[in-house]
Amino acid sequence: MKALGIDLGGTSVKLGIVQDGAVISSASVPTRKNSDYEGIVGDIVAAAKKLCDGHEIEKAGIGSPGLINSSSGKVCYSNNIRWSDYPLRDDISKALGVPAAIANDAKCAALGEAVVGAGKSYSRVAMLTLGTGVGGGFAVNGKIEGGNIHADASGIFGHMTLVPGGRECNCGRKGCLESYCSATAVSERAQSVFGRQITAKEVFRLALERNRVAKKIVDDFAGYLAVAIVNLANILRPECFVIGGGMAASAEMFLPIVRKKTEKELYGEKYAPVKIVSAQLGNAAGIVGATLL
Ligand SMILES: [Zn+2]
Repeated sequence: MKALGIDLGGTSVKLGIVQDGAVISSASVPTRKNSDYEGIVGDIVAAAKKLCDGHEIEKAGIGSPGLINSSSGKVCYSNNIRWSDYPLRDDISKALGVPAAIANDAKCAALGEAVVGAGKSYSRVAMLTLGTGVGGGFAVNGKIEGGNIHADASGIFGHMTLVPGGRECNCGRKGCLESYCSATAVSERAQSVFGRQITAKEVFRLALERNRVAKKIVDDFAGYLAVAIVNLANILRPECFVIGGGMAASAEMFLPIVRKKTEKELYGEKYAPVKIVSAQLGNAAGIVGATLL
């Protein structure tokens, strides 16, 4: 069986044909910044039709940023693409002529990693995606909790309060995990110290070259991440905690610090350990996960 996975992001829409948990053909189109909803849906549908030409597709799965109502199929709210109550699932399904399902993009990535990626040997898998923002998801026995607006609004890991009254987050609150552990946050902090434009990737590279300032930024980042993981793990107690998103590329630098801190802080760690690993599917996690909804 072949399914189409769609991963809608703030800068691009990634599409893939998925068979037996693997992407066999893929495409990507930019998310037009100044386009309205109809324009973006039109772009997705055109790219999907082109990609699916010659393939027998049985269903489509969509991962979208923001708060999704997976039963009504609507994108309720996104601080990223500024949509409200848009019937994305049904519009895609109608245009492509196949049944479709929809969920939050980070939840799709978590489902992908849980079922065919780094978490596939475990029944309880949590994931944090560290990219432009911080997202997350939690899967039990290959399923993400969802079905109505209240269930879909669960697991907003990126906006847990890590530091009361702390740094401003783009959700309008202060001290969220996202404002400490996203690539944006690391880059902004580095910019204020180095006094120039600098990406999170460059900060990790400098830390690897033993730049003391960069090393301090990475240590602080890893410390905050460990606190978030301890909090989440004490509540959800996954067997496996997957770290994904763009920053996972530098995981070998910060995961040892995170593991050490988590091991020390986690309640009853000896009796119910949590394995912290980096994601395996990379960019494909969201596409694959969307087809597993
Ligand atoms: Zn926030």
